[in-house]
Amino acid sequence: MIRIGAHMPIGGGFKRVPKETIEIGGNAFQIFPHNPRQWKAGFPKEDDVLEFRNRIKKYNIETDSMLSHSGYLINIASPKEDNWKKSLDLLIKEMEICSILGIKYLNIHPGSHLGAGEDKGIKKIVKALNIALESEKNTFILLENVAQKGGNIGYKIEHLKFIIDKVKQPERLGITIDTCHAWDAGYDIVNKLDEFLDKIDKLIGLEKLKFIHLNDSKNELGSNKDRHENIGKGVIGEEGLRKFLTHEIILTKPWILETPGDNEIHKQDISKVKEIIGVI
Ligand code: MN
Ligand code: MN
Ligand code: ZN
Repeated sequence: MIRIGAHMPIGGGFKRVPKETIEIGGNAFQIFPHNPRQWKAGFPKEDDVLEFRNRIKKYNIETDSMLSHSGYLINIASPKEDNWKKSLDLLIKEMEICSILGIKYLNIHPGSHLGAGEDKGIKKIVKALNIALESEKNTFILLENVAQKGGNIGYKIEHLKFIIDKVKQPERLGITIDTCHAWDAGYDIVNKLDEFLDKIDKLIGLEKLKFIHLNDSKNELGSNKDRHENIGKGVIGEEGLRKFLTHEIILTKPWILETPGDNEIHKQDISKVKEIIGVI
């Protein structure tokens, strides 16, 4: 059975997420652990946590199918000390929230070096991750590949490898592959998928690939734009996504949609995916 879901809203409480996941045809989900546009993050209310955990069980959602996505403001690659420290503190808070909710994986963008250079950026990331993994002991961190823009680290698989290799607890790190970001960064995940997966396997190990962010792209291969599109409506397209999704390795990973739109649109995207690969 495939595992699929979408990024879900949390307004009004985390407890809404499991039921809405099932309603849109999913069995996996991603959430933000707090408002992603704010530096402030509160811990979830006790009754909300209890109900969330109850419904995870009730709707049979597996631990490996639940993902949390770090807030937009966090940049642990930042060369600015105050910004780096604020980012680290919020990252630790997010890990604590994940632990309270029983969500094992927190997905992060590696960050931007803001012009200081990739080597310096990677050093800051490793330093932050070492502190974070030491201060919160339950949550696993997944590094997401990104598009090459704005000093971003992580548009190459090599960047993710360097970070994992240098961190003191590599066993608590993994990766997420975002199809739109990979495409926009110039990885042909349709016609050169085996080459792409071989690269991940050689550099990092495919067992460390924990999630797929499943997005079509508005732009051409190598465009470095990062504009997500609904399933089948973008440049990767239905046929491209069919080739990607029916690969024996990809079929074993949970897929999370981050396509434009709300639950209703994501429901349509999920049924589109099922139609494309021939699963009802
Ligand atoms: Mn992301
Ligand atoms: Mn993504
Ligand atoms: Zn993106």
